[in-house]
Amino acid sequence: MIRPHILRRGLATASDLARPYNIKVGKVQGSVNGLVGAIGNTPLIRLSRLSEDTGCEIYGKAEFMNPGGSVKDRAALYVVKDAEEKGLLKPGGTVIEGTAGNTGIGLAHVCRSKGYNLVIYMPNTQSQGKIDLLRLLGATVYPVPAVAYENPQNYNHLAKQHALTTPNSVWTNQFDNPANRLAHIETTGPEIWSQLGGKVDGFVCATGTGGTLAGITRYLKEASDGATECWLADPPGSVLHSYIQSGGKLTERSGGSITEGIGQGRVTDNLTTEINLISNSLSIADEKSIEMVYRLLDEEGLYMGASTALNVVAAKEMAEKLGPGKTVVTVLCDGAYRYAERLFSRKWLEEKKLLEAVPEKLMRYIVL
Ligand code: PMP
Repeated sequence: MIRPHILRRGLATASDLARPYNIKVGKVQGSVNGLVGAIGNTPLIRLSRLSEDTGCEIYGKAEFMNPGGSVKDRAALYVVKDAEEKGLLKPGGTVIEGTAGNTGIGLAHVCRSKGYNLVIYMPNTQSQGKIDLLRLLGATVYPVPAVAYENPQNYNHLAKQHALTTPNSVWTNQFDNPANRLAHIETTGPEIWSQLGGKVDGFVCATGTGGTLAGITRYLKEASDGATECWLADPPGSVLHSYIQSGGKLTERSGGSITEGIGQGRVTDNLTTEINLISNSLSIADEKSIEMVYRLLDEEGLYMGASTALNVVAAKEMAEKLGPGKTVVTVLCDGAYRYAERLFSRKWLEEKKLLEAVPEKLMRYIVL
């Protein structure tokens, strides 16, 4: 109830006074210490339409709700903490990474909040928007020619080189640094398990570094005594689907995908240790991912990037394969904000030959 002195100050009307509040507080965390304390503990969102359509319970882990806006905040925090614990990074030190996307943004937030400098190497094919964002978050950014991993001038090798010649610095090496996977073994996996009271029949997601898939898989397999099915979802142009289907044969990378942040040409160290726990894989065409970008917006009000849409398509296909009554979880990696000028642009969709993938009745969302 509003107290009379508020009414006297003219901040409320008499009818406000008469109305009782219906205060609802669910389980809320206490306060956290700094930005890094706000990473993780994300909601698990039930995707209602897809659950109804499949007769399963389909959930998305809302990683887009992390402070930096993506699943990579967790890995960023863990690689920095790991470097601190190993004594590689001391106050005022410098974190160096090769990244074109979410890891850089996560690292920028974590480094600012902990007082470290951040140096980012990225291919110069990336949008000016990404460079600007990293710079305004305080990072020093080096856009360098986009050359293959085998070339010593590749942005990852340049990041490593920079660290070798900079005192009190660390190359966090997200692809092969096990602290990346550990973030998901120690936080994301246990959160999912606890949010569902231990009923997780299936988990599926795509990989970039492999940290998310490997870490969550590792935890869920241990917690369920091996009962949770853990599958990989792969975009076109990635070699991992055929690697799993062929029982471990690595093929040459060919083709590509519009999904950003996922797809791989090799089995990263983060994935190697856990790849035997992955019992199946699904290859998801760009047409299906684009359709799901629009469906998630229309049906669930979720404004998501293409890797999330691909994950949700894979969760739906997994649910259909496991059968009714099962509980399937995937990851909602990041929002569509950084991709809007592509995903919601008619010209871009036409260029990529993906306009037809948008269902007729959802065309009204193509506004750019
Ligand atoms: N989705 C997006 C948008 C990403 O940026 C990334 C990370 N590159 C992933 C998914 C995959 O996460 P991970 O690196 O843990 O495999």
